[in-house]
Amino acid sequence: MIFKKLISLKYIMQIREFQQLMKRLYFERDKNRGISKTFLWIVEEVGELAEALRKYQESDKNKNEIHNIAMEIADIVAWIASLANILEIDLEDALYSKYPSVCPKCGKNPCSCAFK
Ligand SMILES: [Zn+2]
Repeated sequence: MIFKKLISLKYIMQIREFQQLMKRLYFERDKNRGISKTFLWIVEEVGELAEALRKYQESDKNKNEIHNIAMEIADIVAWIASLANILEIDLEDALYSKYPSVCPKCGKNPCSCAFK
């Protein structure tokens, strides 16, 4: 699979670096599209992930479908980065602030919150 080949290049992209890449590639378009339309693209991509997950489960967990699921997840993360860029939110700061290596609710790693 393509993404396994990319990982084998042993280049680990940091979250901030990925967000900056999305900014270099798409910021002008993202800024002109705006918050609401960019959010709609995220929702559309989540729908495509739902379809890929359904196909995976209907195909008796065909491993080829896993690649499609991975690509849909990548699209969602890319669109999230675009939205964060429009709003001037640093994703890496937000993630580490919300999830500082422990569960934000119980403060433990692994989480020990009651399972609901
Ligand atoms: Zn917890």
